[in-house]
Amino acid sequence: MSKTFIGIDVGGTTVKIGIIDEIGNILDKWEIPTNTDNHGESILSDIWNSVSNKLSLENVAGIGIGVPGFIDQETGDVYEAVNIGWKQVELAKNLKEMSGVPVFVENDANAAVLGENWKGAGGQVKNLIAVTVGTGIGGGIIANGSILNGVSGTAGEIGHITMERDGSPCNCGRRGCLETISSATGIVRQAKEKIKENQNSMLAKFYAEQGNITAKDIFQLADSGDTLSKNIIEHAADVLGLAIANLTVTINPSRILIGGGVSKAGEDFVNLIDAAFNKYTLAKAGEVCEVKLAQLGNDAGIIGAAFLVKQRLEKVTF
Ligand SMILES: [Zn+2]
Repeated sequence: MSKTFIGIDVGGTTVKIGIIDEIGNILDKWEIPTNTDNHGESILSDIWNSVSNKLSLENVAGIGIGVPGFIDQETGDVYEAVNIGWKQVELAKNLKEMSGVPVFVENDANAAVLGENWKGAGGQVKNLIAVTVGTGIGGGIIANGSILNGVSGTAGEIGHITMERDGSPCNCGRRGCLETISSATGIVRQAKEKIKENQNSMLAKFYAEQGNITAKDIFQLADSGDTLSKNIIEHAADVLGLAIANLTVTINPSRILIGGGVSKAGEDFVNLIDAAFNKYTLAKAGEVCEVKLAQLGNDAGIIGAAFLVKQRLEKVTF
């Protein structure tokens, strides 16, 4: 029997676990809830109980695990993962002791990028930028075939590029980050500002009737012809395209992938980002680079975590 990998994607509400074969097919996958009580102290044992109940590890080459936080790629230690309560957790060491197989750790967004490049829209290119647009904006960068981590694990934190000096406050403690403008949260914030200034708009009427508004509503209002909503979406896409255009002079990628909840708004949003990117980028960088929608959705994390094992054990790169 050929070897398999276990890919794990730890999120704030669920942990996704998958058994993945050597060419990246998912043989089985399931989820368990993430128990963040007491600084997430039971998360690791919950994961191990679930895995060991499901299968014996004799044919498993290793475990890859993506964590939403800052990690030390070499040791597999987690410096900090705020959403799940972890601080200074020796994740690789502890899970290796439990399982008896090699364990490798990566930031969750980076693991998802590895997955998209292995089996999704990346197409195994050597230079790629992936942007995840959801509640916030995450990202990952593959340069010369490997994930860029940097000295303290912040490489690829695309959402925190400053796009507006003295802009709106960001979760990171600074102002005007990309995430404050082009994420779902940023889109809603801008809509609420516009509503105050334009009480007779379709947007304002919708808000008054519903008592609330989501990014999805704003996309739908834009589709049905509301100019204000359209302007907000176009601005969000324009600023995102500008940020990506600036990044391309650093790594000169052949692909840019757009994923995450907001990308479910679909091709139109990605086309707007593409147009903005091409407007701002250096021609020589733009002409070799394709902007595409990510394909794997929620499976990217477990597939990428499995690839991490393959990459480290077999010394493969893209
Ligand atoms: Zn920020």
